[in-house]
Amino acid sequence: MRPYLLLTPGPLTTSETVKQAMMSDWCTWDEDYNVGIVEVIRKELVELACSRPEEYTAVLMQGSGSFCVEATLGSVIRPEDHLLVAANGAYGKRMGVIAEYYHLNCHVMKFEETQAVDPAQIEAYLQAHPEVTHVSVVHCETTTGVLNPIEEIARIVKKHHKVLIVDAMSSFGGVPIDMAALGIDFMISSANKCIQGVPGFGFIIARRSLLEQCKGVARSLSLDLYDQWETMEKGHGKWRFTSPTHVVRAFMQAMNELKEEGGVAARHARYSENHRVLVEGMRSLGFKTLLPDEEQSPVITSFYYPNAEFNFKDFYTKLKAKGFVIYPGKISQADTFRIGNIGDVHPDDFRQLIEAIKEIQLQ
Ligand SMILES: *Cc1c(COP(=O)(O)O)cnc(C)c1O
Repeated sequence: MRPYLLLTPGPLTTSETVKQAMMSDWCTWDEDYNVGIVEVIRKELVELACSRPEEYTAVLMQGSGSFCVEATLGSVIRPEDHLLVAANGAYGKRMGVIAEYYHLNCHVMKFEETQAVDPAQIEAYLQAHPEVTHVSVVHCETTTGVLNPIEEIARIVKKHHKVLIVDAMSSFGGVPIDMAALGIDFMISSANKCIQGVPGFGFIIARRSLLEQCKGVARSLSLDLYDQWETMEKGHGKWRFTSPTHVVRAFMQAMNELKEEGGVAARHARYSENHRVLVEGMRSLGFKTLLPDEEQSPVITSFYYPNAEFNFKDFYTKLKAKGFVIYPGKISQADTFRIGNIGDVHPDDFRQLIEAIKEIQLQ
C-alpha cells in the first residue's frame, strides 16, 4: 500500500493500521461513532494539549487546516476588535488574508521568511497599540521549517492581557506545547500532520470560558466554530453536517499509536533524530540548509539548490522512482526544496534517502 514514502508535511506517510481503520462504515449520528469515537478524541486532544484540561475544550471541523484557522478568526474576532498577526511565512500571511476577507481590523507584522518572529517587536507594537485585542502567530512555519519562540511570544501577549491564537498545525503532537502553562487561548491543528492521520478535518482546542462568549460572532454558517462546538457538546459528539467518518476513525487509531509510541516527547525525539540524520547526510553530500540550526524545527527542513544547474523537477522525479516524494520550496528569496521529517517515517528511512540522493548525484 506504499508505492513511495511521503516526505511531505501533510498529507504524510501513515501506518498500515491507520489506513486499515478506514475499512468500515460509520453512521455520522450513531452513538458508536459520536460517543465511542468523537467524544474520546475531543477529550484526548484536550489532555494532549494542556496540563489543565478542565479549562479547555475541543471542536472538530470538516475540511483542511485552513478551514479551521478561518473558522477560528471568523468566529472569535468581533467587528470592534483588533487583531495583530505576526507573519514570517505563507501561513502567517494566510491569516492576514482571512482577516481581509472578513473585514477585520488587522495589522500584519511581517518578518523575513528566514527569521523567527521577534517577540520584542510584538511587545513594542502592543505598547504602542493598546486597541489590539487578539494576537495570532504560527508555531512552526511550514513554509521554511522555522520554529517560532512560542514561550516568549505567549509571555508577552499574556503580560498585555491579549487573546492568543496559535496555528500549531504542523507542530501539535510532534513538539511539546502546554497551552495552559503558556496561556494560549485557541490552538489549531489538523488530522494529517504530527498526529499522523489522513486528511479531511481539523480541530481547535479552545479556552472554554472564551469560546462560550462567541455565540453569534461567526459570519459563515459552515465555519461557525461556536455552533459546531455547541452541537458537539450538547449532542455528545454530534457534528452539524456530514462528518468525514472514516477519517475520524483513522484519527482515533493514530492517537492510539501516538500513545503507544510514548506520547509527544517520544515522537518529538524521533522527528528530531529523523532531522539530524537528514541534515548530517545532506551536508556530507554538499547541501546547505536554508535556516541556521537554532531556528530550525524538527518538522520540515529547507535546503538550497546545490548549484545553478540544479534541476529540481528532474531530481524530484528520480527520487520518486527510488521511493521518496519530497516538496518544492515555497519562498521567493532563494531557490530551495523541502524535506519533511514527520509521519510514520524513521531514521533508517532517512539513511536510505541519503543513499538514494548519493546515487542520483553519481549518475
Ligand atoms: C498545513 C498547514 C496549514 C493548513 O494548510 P491546509 O492546506 O489548509 O491543510 C496551516 N498552517 C500551517 C503552519 C500548516 O503547516
